[in-house]
Amino acid sequence: MAKIIDGKSLATRIKAEIKAEIERDKLNVGLAVVIVGNDRASEIYVKYKKDDCAECGIQSFEYALPEYVCLEDLLELIEELNDDENINGILVQQPLPRHIDAVTVNETISPFKDVDAFRADSLGKIALGDYDFSPCTPAGIMEMLHNENISVSGKECVVIGRSAIVGKPMALMLLHEDATVTICHSKTRDLGEAARRADVLVAAAGCPGLVGADMVKEGAVVIDVGMNRDESGKLCGDVKFAEVSGKASYITPVPGGVGPMTRAMLMKNALMAKRLQL
Ligand code: NAP
Repeated sequence: MAKIIDGKSLATRIKAEIKAEIERDKLNVGLAVVIVGNDRASEIYVKYKKDDCAECGIQSFEYALPEYVCLEDLLELIEELNDDENINGILVQQPLPRHIDAVTVNETISPFKDVDAFRADSLGKIALGDYDFSPCTPAGIMEMLHNENISVSGKECVVIGRSAIVGKPMALMLLHEDATVTICHSKTRDLGEAARRADVLVAAAGCPGLVGADMVKEGAVVIDVGMNRDESGKLCGDVKFAEVSGKASYITPVPGGVGPMTRAMLMKNALMAKRLQL
């Protein structure tokens, strides 16, 4: 039976360390959280992030804009936040309404305040392996692996998903730690064949139950990034947890795995932003 990697308790420990560091160095760290519209899931994530800030001793400033806000007004707000000394990090909750171009929004955030590491130059720096802000989800996954003393060096790592915020930076971070990395996506011809080669399998497709036991090698480490809703509206991952647990050596649950670690990494980046701006 696989060992469950408890992301929630590791995240709690990391947040306590961040709080201790902030108190020790008497820092005032401010994070702006911008939310556009009334997407229920986004509202919940923003609430969690504000709770995390409170837990870490980081001041959060929420800016809730209506669904119909125009791009120019949103960019104006971001420019103001870029110039505001009390704000060290800026996050704009995504997805944004369809009429708002997310790339333009991300590129408007100051490179010193890009705590989500969504800017093109942030991703470029990650590709080069020399960066300040870690992409939160992949960084949280690497922390979980390190915490379990799981080395990826020389191992076959397979990432399902190639998005700019999860799949690609995940693959790069694994590569920086000397893994042999395969990236799969919706056009991959034989996903099962690729996945079964994995010593470490990261599922980030956003497809409930995509990964079953038949796609997992005996003893593999399985990381489930997916955050989906099943038919009954219950939160579920991309991995069939019950059956894959019987075959994997380690597995992350949903909820309580990658999600809390992603948010803990955001807090780390907010503290990093403060230090960059001192
Ligand atoms: P995304 O932008 O929609 O990307 C999904 C990727 O998965 C794409 O590259 C897509 O391929 C690939 N894919 C989709 N269906 C597939 C299939 N059947 N077989 C193989 N590949 C498939 O999503 P994302 O933003 O990366 O997020 C992925 C999942 O992680 C979502 O469930 C999201 O909610 C979750 N997430 C969780 C956290 C967390 O903190 N836990 C953070 C971020 C995201 P193509 O490129 O070919 O379309």
